[in-house]
Amino acid sequence: TVSANPAYLDQLNPRQRQAVEHGVLADGSSSATPLLVIAGAGSGKTNTLAHRVAHLIVNGADPRRMLLLTFSRRAAAEMARRVERIAGKVLGQNAGVMTDALTWAGTFHGIGARLLRDYAPEIGLDPAFSIHDREDSADLMNLVRHELGFSTTQSRFPAKATCLAIYSRCVNAETALEDVLRASYPWCAGWASELRQLFAAYVEAKQRQNVLDYDDLLLYWAQMVAEPSIAAELGGRFDHILVDEYQDTNRLQSSILLALKPGGQGLTVVGDDAQSIYSFRAATVRNILDFPSQFSPPAEIVTLDRNYRSSQPILAAANAVIELASERFTKNLWTDRASSERPQLVAVRDETDQARYVVEQVLANRETGMSLKQQAVLFRTSHHSGPLEVELTRRNIPFVKFGGLKFLDAAHVKDLLALLRFVQNPRDRVAGFRLMQLLPGVGPTSARRVLDRMHDAADPIGALLEAPSPPRAGDEWSSFVNAIAQLRAGTVGWPAELEQARTWYEPHLERMHEDVATRKADLIQLEQIAAGYPSGERFLTELTLDPPDATSDQAGVPLRDEDYLILSTIHSAKGQEWKSVFVLNVVDGCIPSDLGTGTTGEIEEERRLLYVAMTRAKDHLHLIVPQRFFTHQQSARGDRHVYAARTRFIPSSFLKLFERVSWPVAVPDPATSPAATKGIRVDVGAKMRSMWR
Ligand code: ATP
Ligand code: MG
Repeated sequence: TVSANPAYLDQLNPRQRQAVEHGVLADGSSSATPLLVIAGAGSGKTNTLAHRVAHLIVNGADPRRMLLLTFSRRAAAEMARRVERIAGKVLGQNAGVMTDALTWAGTFHGIGARLLRDYAPEIGLDPAFSIHDREDSADLMNLVRHELGFSTTQSRFPAKATCLAIYSRCVNAETALEDVLRASYPWCAGWASELRQLFAAYVEAKQRQNVLDYDDLLLYWAQMVAEPSIAAELGGRFDHILVDEYQDTNRLQSSILLALKPGGQGLTVVGDDAQSIYSFRAATVRNILDFPSQFSPPAEIVTLDRNYRSSQPILAAANAVIELASERFTKNLWTDRASSERPQLVAVRDETDQARYVVEQVLANRETGMSLKQQAVLFRTSHHSGPLEVELTRRNIPFVKFGGLKFLDAAHVKDLLALLRFVQNPRDRVAGFRLMQLLPGVGPTSARRVLDRMHDAADPIGALLEAPSPPRAGDEWSSFVNAIAQLRAGTVGWPAELEQARTWYEPHLERMHEDVATRKADLIQLEQIAAGYPSGERFLTELTLDPPDATSDQAGVPLRDEDYLILSTIHSAKGQEWKSVFVLNVVDGCIPSDLGTGTTGEIEEERRLLYVAMTRAKDHLHLIVPQRFFTHQQSARGDRHVYAARTRFIPSSFLKLFERVSWPVAVPDPATSPAATKGIRVDVGAKMRSMWR
């Protein structure tokens, strides 16, 4: 039996507690109306969600019948850990066993992939489907475009990545091609009919090859639950569906939830409209704003207004920035975490100085006992951390980069994964195309010829075995075909299969690359990661959807107890918090970015992005403003360095909320320095010192 008033409830404020207890009955069921928690950053939404899950479990809800949807796999794992900590106080040892049963925790895409494999036979899908990441999808788009004869070079037809982005927007926003072109890609509007033809061929190619792209995982899922009998069955499998960061879901995702729980029973969503930053992937803030009225009776709404994360001066500055937003539901937050330290607005000369400033501050913080892990550096776009990564490497400071170039993007890792994918699904043309061209003497034409044969055959592997060797491939061809056949037979089992694949691949790696040792180390690392997965299929699925983050030593995943600095795009920092946060390039042209079309909607989203960045900080916040800044927008003189101004989101009237710092501290002007007055023509000492600034 469970105490009626477990101690963990006392740690919540009354509104949080209301959300946690909303409709929870003693048997863990919830007969009540759906629940929306909508509140600003750091007000405890995620924490409240974790308490609600724990509270349900403590009251007897079956964790195997809970669906928990988070923004990343890391967030899902973190949520499970928190649930265990909270429930552990009541259930003791048993809590671990119970939360282990929380198997349906993950991202929409990851959960979608699992459900689609389960239901594949019932929806006419081959369960051996492979999943394409964005790069694979762009490659397939390119192959199809070639076949249709739309050339980019002569006719200025949109590039493969643009085609994919347009396609993806149509699918996720459930919007017609013409409307997407008009709103977001006006320069492609003249290609509407060709794009329509291209997308039709792309869809057909995916189906023929039995591959799903990211968008398909949601699209197929939505289509699947549009069939009422499946929706009822699947909805019945979950007593509770709980979603974090709901402001960043798109229409497909909300339609899936609605199909699973048409009456909203057992549905809990939490989010903050002021933190909606994924509209470029068709997320829509309407989802969260319209949520309550989608149900009858409407959802219960709980708002929270106390921030537990940030010191008062940091919160005041963040509130000021978001206050000017044109449309907003959530209200300003308050905190009782007084502090005399205002957030810093740091002027530096350029990005090199910016990197040095960060390193210096990070090390100073460490001197005071703040570990590297309690500090993070955030930036608008992945490549902005380049100079900092150089400086950190030079100074031997370990770091992990979230949301940046992934370990899995390295060519050799992709080669090996393509091999596994091709074995799993020999109709996957992008994988086959990549692999065959690893062989000396095999070019696109001969690869295409073999793939065409496989494509027309009922048994693609049989067709591969029988295909005549391309004229210049020789022994390498039979070695390749044998490797595929052996792996396909699956005699060695998982994960030994990966080692077998590597053995075949390594001679090719040695032939193609110079830095063989580090690349081989990556592949060994990949095997270590693979060992943590029950099957090759699960490994490929989860890695494709949510790859591990890159680290400073290229070692894939960091050790648990190692200390390292976090580098992250602002987008990937969502939901997280650190004692000390540095935000790079807080200048116009970066935040807001000058790459967009500059519509009001886009500018407003950039303001929310800055708000998200600032609200990650607990105690120390540094917004850095380099006076010169590298941009991809070329100036008239061809110079890519532009003189930058502080972001427009911090107008002069806000400056009193910040402490203004200039770094390095201004070098004394030689003309007025004592050295000059003594008739010294050059102050060599000052020059030497300035070399190290
Ligand atoms: P975000 O919008 O950034 O995702 P959030 O609303 O999800 O933020 P949480 O991450 O859940 O906020 O909580 C922010 C911090 O406040 C965490 O450190 C959490 O432990 C703490 N916190 C939340 N509620 C309470 C509370 N009632 N008492 C003390 N600390 C709390
Ligand atoms: Mg949160």
